[in-house]
Amino acid sequence: MADAVYHIHVCQHHTRLDCPCRDRPVCERGFFSVLLAVLYGIAYARGRKQAFYIDMRSRQYAYSQPSMFGGNSNFLEYFFRQPLSGADVDRVPSVFCNAQQTYPYRVWHRNYFKRLHQTLHDGLPFHPAIARYLDEETVRLFGGNRVLGVHLRGTDHSSEVKPVHWETWEKLIRKELPAYDRLFIATDDARLLQKAVDAFGIEKTLFNTTIRSADGARLHRPTGNGSIPYQLGLEALLDCYCLSRCQQVMLCESNLSYAACVFNPALNYRLVTAWDNNRIASVVGKLYHIYLTYRIRLHRLLGEHRPH
Ligand SMILES: [Zn+2]
Repeated sequence: MADAVYHIHVCQHHTRLDCPCRDRPVCERGFFSVLLAVLYGIAYARGRKQAFYIDMRSRQYAYSQPSMFGGNSNFLEYFFRQPLSGADVDRVPSVFCNAQQTYPYRVWHRNYFKRLHQTLHDGLPFHPAIARYLDEETVRLFGGNRVLGVHLRGTDHSSEVKPVHWETWEKLIRKELPAYDRLFIATDDARLLQKAVDAFGIEKTLFNTTIRSADGARLHRPTGNGSIPYQLGLEALLDCYCLSRCQQVMLCESNLSYAACVFNPALNYRLVTAWDNNRIASVVGKLYHIYLTYRIRLHRLLGEHRPH
């Protein structure tokens, strides 16, 4: 046992980037927002050769279902194996690890995908049964087809990130789809899925059977939908995993999209943003993507503190 353990707390309430869950009983952050923030914390601890423990004992999450997991609220442990247990770490001095930021900082650069992939692989591997489930479900859905994957974000943070119009998606998909056998749609929005099925046909379109929002309300809001928290997490994971196994994907500015590149750093992806809604602006959009790719370096250049 290490002489000290870095405790990775997902929600911080003492920094500039406080999580808004401070006064709420349940944190409403998305599955991949939490997972990516944790990976940054693990990378930090591992970089310093310190043992780490993802400490989510003080809070409930939208994906927490303690009644199903012996009182455990740490939903990441339902899917991933962390090296130490709570009982282990309470016996040694803990170092509060606040190096990871509360919100993941998406850098669309293959080096970052690779590094986070390695961190996930070494530091927080899937439970074997979950890995098997994800593989089997993906093979069952895709068969031997060449698949174009699209992540249509409907409900999630649509007020924070300007949405891409459906007409834009349709145009982009129509251009690429002839080179593929099937279209896979990952979305939390039932209305967007219906639009895709209407446009490209039910025979051509693949999707997982998941809980979807019919009215645009966020799924990871604890009061909504009457959904089962564990199932909600598993479905988000499966949608993301399926995207990561496509021959090509069109992604959007979201943590689920980003995580598909973490699961498969070699993924052939295109990032679609609201800039693509307009032909001229799409040129600006390409420049914006370059900014997203290099902004960590830019922030460093400007002297802003971005630990990672
Ligand atoms: Zn929180």
